[in-house]
Amino acid sequence: MPSITSGSDTIAREGFAPSHTYSARSSGPITSWGTIHAEPDVHTIGSAATWNPIVLASGRAVASQSGGKILRLVSASRARNDPSLLQLGPDPLRPEFDPEAAAARVLAYTPSATIGEALNDQSLIAGIGNVIRIEACFLPGISPWRRIGDLTEEEARKVVDAATWVMETSMKRGSRPKQIYGRSRAPCPRCGGRIRVHGQGDDNRVTFWCEGCQR
Ligand SMILES: [Zn+2]
Repeated sequence: MPSITSGSDTIAREGFAPSHTYSARSSGPITSWGTIHAEPDVHTIGSAATWNPIVLASGRAVASQSGGKILRLVSASRARNDPSLLQLGPDPLRPEFDPEAAAARVLAYTPSATIGEALNDQSLIAGIGNVIRIEACFLPGISPWRRIGDLTEEEARKVVDAATWVMETSMKRGSRPKQIYGRSRAPCPRCGGRIRVHGQGDDNRVTFWCEGCQR
């Protein structure tokens, strides 16, 4: 596979092997950290392109990333020694992911932070982009504005499980399952309530939530 470029930036070079998981760092004005999975025999290039990712394809594998300006692929051994990648939290798409431990990490986060802000922090849980964090709060009916210190163990676990489900479903379908993201003009699909939108956190990430059924 030849080098793939995005603008003037080289984002990938020849020789990444299929069916491995790569740690990747993306940089840009709003994106942060992520993980790239290259899966053999994935046939989602067309639909995956609808959520505007960088898609890398070889004869047997597809790796995709939503958002980001620069994509760097490194081997697993190199990633283990890369100080910048050591900051990544556990990745829900890895087989060794422990949802209970991840929920405990959520509860141990800054108590005054909101769950919406916490999910933005890739050192907490890796790979959660904006759509995923919005839907991960919506599915269990938890407001993204709830404080970490106010969450129960059960609620933290539900958010982790919902984020995992959205990530896995995105991988399978090649598109993100969205119920409220980008739909502030439509009624809530669950309760018919009003979907609100507002910036959240230091980087003012666009945040959607239902004022009727998310508490
Ligand atoms: Zn609702």
